[in-house]
Amino acid sequence: MSYACPICNGLQNWNVVCPKCNMNTEDYGKYADFVGPYAPYQSIEQMKSDNGYWDEIQHQCIHVAYCHSCQYTFQSAVYEMLT
Ligand SMILES: [Zn+2]
Ligand SMILES: [Zn+2]
Repeated sequence: MSYACPICNGLQNWNVVCPKCNMNTEDYGKYADFVGPYAPYQSIEQMKSDNGYWDEIQHQCIHVAYCHSCQYTFQSAVYEMLT
């Protein structure tokens, strides 16, 4: 068994709403792909220090969400599922 992101694997629909205007957003893919393979995982490091649950963070897939109605781009953590 291993953990897999349900969004990346097409097991689940993207249903993240914009925190600013509550509209549906579009999945722009994994954050790591979005910023490039050599970019530092700074946001994940920040999240780790924020809540301290490294195990939990390891089983999250960080995606980039884009809101068309207000042009807001933000990160959204997807909980990975055991497959
Ligand atoms: Zn994913
Ligand atoms: Zn919005």
